[in-house]
Amino acid sequence: MTEKQSTENLYPPKILVIDDEKVIREGCHEVLTQEGYEAILAENGELGLKMIEEAHFDVILLDLMMPGLSGFDVLLNVKALHPDTSIIVITGYATIENSIEAMKNGAFDFIPKPFSPDQLRVVVSKAIEHTGALKDIANEKSRMRVLINLLANGVMVTDAEKKVVLANPAFMKIMGFKGDDIIGRPFTVLIKNEQLQQMIESALSMTEDVLTELTEELDIGEDGEDKKAIYVVKCRPFADRVDRNLGTITVLSDITYLKEINQRQSDFVSMVAHEIRSPMNSVMAQMKVVQDGLAGDVTQKQGEILGRASEKINGLVSLSTELLNMASKDQVDFHQPKAQAKGIQLKLEPFPDLPPVLANKQNMEEVLSNLIANAINYTPGKGKITVAAHPEKHHLCISVSDTGLGIAEEDLDRIFDRFYRVKNEKTRYIIGTGLGLPIVKSIVEAHDGIIWVESKLDLGSTFYVSIPFATS
Ligand code: ADP
Repeated sequence: MTEKQSTENLYPPKILVIDDEKVIREGCHEVLTQEGYEAILAENGELGLKMIEEAHFDVILLDLMMPGLSGFDVLLNVKALHPDTSIIVITGYATIENSIEAMKNGAFDFIPKPFSPDQLRVVVSKAIEHTGALKDIANEKSRMRVLINLLANGVMVTDAEKKVVLANPAFMKIMGFKGDDIIGRPFTVLIKNEQLQQMIESALSMTEDVLTELTEELDIGEDGEDKKAIYVVKCRPFADRVDRNLGTITVLSDITYLKEINQRQSDFVSMVAHEIRSPMNSVMAQMKVVQDGLAGDVTQKQGEILGRASEKINGLVSLSTELLNMASKDQVDFHQPKAQAKGIQLKLEPFPDLPPVLANKQNMEEVLSNLIANAINYTPGKGKITVAAHPEKHHLCISVSDTGLGIAEEDLDRIFDRFYRVKNEKTRYIIGTGLGLPIVKSIVEAHDGIIWVESKLDLGSTFYVSIPFATS
């Protein structure tokens, strides 16, 4: 509002009066300038048109019946040159049909001669309001265009017919599109990535009762480029006032850098955990050799000292099992509200007394968090999820079981692949990236462990993670 007023104060509306009758021109001039408008006069069509070619007017008062170039010719030219100018045709009673014809050709309103100053004021102020609204829309559009073009994020909009309505330079760059104008062409000309195409297709096929946002992490890049970038892709349909799907908006944000930092951190942590395990085991083994007297006699005092040192090392190692137990509890607590919201019973079986494993707490939290989140996501309401741990010969085995959708046999091997997601009617609107399980697998393997799944379609799944005991 403030902005609009200030623009109006800065530039008073400019009105051109084209009429061959001097008395009309001068009458209009007086009324309009009194109203604070800038009024400019032209005595015939030719002169008027010349002025219109040179300047922009907010409103034109145009006499239809003039000798020479007719008002109709001027009208058509104005519409072509300045579609946002409002035209009011001035006409005599006898030519009412002409006024209607003028309206059909884009005139905003008409005012029959003779008219009073008040009639003129009313019709002009209506026209100014109309022009103002058109200007606001045009300004808003131009502001949006500049903003979208400046964004580092890729933005693309399609209509319901799958045609591109807008694509900013960042989006074109990400897609490696070097062709001509893409506007009005099918989005598949611009987007070659199949997963992204599928996302847009599913957003377009959403019906009014389920217009939701889809989010995925995809690696997208130019064909033939070795190093692809990872993007968070958000795609959502937009609707008209009666909720009909009008098209989609897709936004890409580059998260390659974050992924790299994350990966480096977890590689480092895994490496440290891994590197500590063997020397610790070796220290323990060597101390045992000394303690058992295999390296010569050990006095009672020396035995006690060695005993205390072993305890400390054991304590350090066993701390990790404690942490694992705590991590499981934390994760079950963390996911509890989401499970409850879906009517799912999420339970942690108490951990039995276990020999120590050496694991990184943060990593294990990530493993459990992913498995529990998946169990909740892929279990329709009223199910049950159990997190448990039990010892096996040389391993600690943690399991996360659910009574959810289950996984078909042909998908079982593939769900640990990057970006693989089971696609069917039931999983269609479950949002995910297909990156959870591959990350879980790489963490487990960095701890010398293994992960596997047992599942029956429609009955549920159990994911097992097995990590070796520290002293094995
Ligand atoms: P996301 O869940 O983000 O799609 P994941 O890598 O975590 O990615 O999982 C890959 C796929 O494995 C999922 O898309 C889903 O189809 C399937 N899946 C994972 N966990 C379960 C589960 N507990 N029950 C049924 N299907 C699952």
